[in-house]
This record gives sequence, structure tokens and C-alpha cells, in this order.
Amino acid sequence: MDTKLDCEIVKDLLPLYVDKMVSDVSQKSIEQHLQQCTDCMECYQNMAVELESSAQTPEVSDIKRFLKKTKRMYFFYGLCGLSFLSIFVCLIVDLALNKGITWSLIVGSAVLFADILVYVLSACKKNKGCITMAVLSIGTGCLLSVIQFTRYYLMNTGTVWIFRYGFPILFVWLGVLWLPLLFRTVFKWNLWDCIAFFLFLVIVGNYFTKCITGDFVWRDIFYTRDFIINALGEAIGILVFGAIGRVKKWRR
Ligand SMILES: [Zn+2]
Repeated sequence: MDTKLDCEIVKDLLPLYVDKMVSDVSQKSIEQHLQQCTDCMECYQNMAVELESSAQTPEVSDIKRFLKKTKRMYFFYGLCGLSFLSIFVCLIVDLALNKGITWSLIVGSAVLFADILVYVLSACKKNKGCITMAVLSIGTGCLLSVIQFTRYYLMNTGTVWIFRYGFPILFVWLGVLWLPLLFRTVFKWNLWDCIAFFLFLVIVGNYFTKCITGDFVWRDIFYTRDFIINALGEAIGILVFGAIGRVKKWRR
């Protein structure tokens, strides 16, 4: 049967399955499908967790929620305290050495970026992957800009590299990370295919990076030693993960 149709049917039946209201035959086929389909398994686990929490008395779940919230709150207070401390120390060193705000600006933005990332990771329940990636993309771009601005304009060292190298290379590698995630989210590719696709993009990304830095030579692509250094590991990975993906699909 069409696996997509299978998934639809299983997902429709899951609420009944969780409540143990399906026939023995249906139960068996659903169990079989769950063992092979990570997507439906995830759905089932979410439902089971929901059922478990709703089965608890309201007081118990309220207390649990409160404890969880306080724990998270203290964690963030600790994180903020540490962040402020590190920025403060940098600021003192900066003012003593350069008489200006330079390194504290870079450390400050890096710490802020890390804090936001940790917060998003712990606060997000849905679309965790996409939201984390979005924060990572914007954050890395901002951080690169701050480093460039501070080094070149405030410290008068180095050159302007951000437009020639910084952003182009960042875009290439963000593409390498984003595309498999989008294919997984939008086209529901299985995990193994996504990993194989990611490895393929790593090879492409390597060559693009070489183009940007000016190290790319066309004949190198056909040069075996260059291929072994740059792409052999990834190519083997693509074959292995691609094969696992095929086997998983075929077994369904
Ligand atoms: Zn399924």
C-alpha cells in the first residue's frame, strides 16, 4: 500500500489506539507500522505523553509545571549572571588596556547569541529545528558583522573581509544546513536520506567555499587526489546513508 496513505490511516486511528479502543488486528498492524515509521512513532509518543499528563490530577500536574518553571527560571538567572560577569570582566580589561569598548563588544554579542540560542532551544516546543536554525543564521550573520566592525573600524586592524568572504561563505554553509532541514520538514524525507543529502551539500559547499576564497581550480574536480581529500569521506557516507534510507523505505 502507499506509505503516505498508510501514515494518514494510522494517524487517524492513533487516538483510538492510545485509548486501547481498536480491534486486535488493527492494533497489530498499527504496532507494525509504528516500528517502521519514525514520523507516526513521534505522533504516538506525543499523544501518549499528553494522555499521561491529562490522567494526572490537576494539582499534581500544576505542581509539576510550577517546579519545571522555577527550575528553568533559576537556570536562566544563572546563565544571565554568568553572561553579565563575563561581559563585565571584558569591559574592565578593555577600558584598562585600550581605553575603548572593543573586545567586550565582541564577547558581549557572542554571549548574547549563545544565551538566545539556549533560551530558544529550551522554550520551543514546536518546529524546534527550524526556529533554532533561524536564530543560528541571523545570529551568526550579526556576530560576523560585529567582529568586522570592531576589528576594522574601532581597532583599526585587518581588512574588510565580510562582503568578499564573510557573508558569501556564511550563505553557502547556511544553505548546506537549511536545505536538508527544509526537505525533511516540507517533503517529509526520512532522516537517512536527509543525512545523505546533507553530505552531498557538504561536498558542494566545500567547492563553493574554494571558489569564494579563490582556491578553486576546475581540473582539480577530475583530479583523484583532490577528490579523495575533499569528498571521499562524504561520498562514502552518502552511499551508506542512502542505502539505509532505501532499505527503510523498501521494508515499509
Ligand atoms: Zn507512518
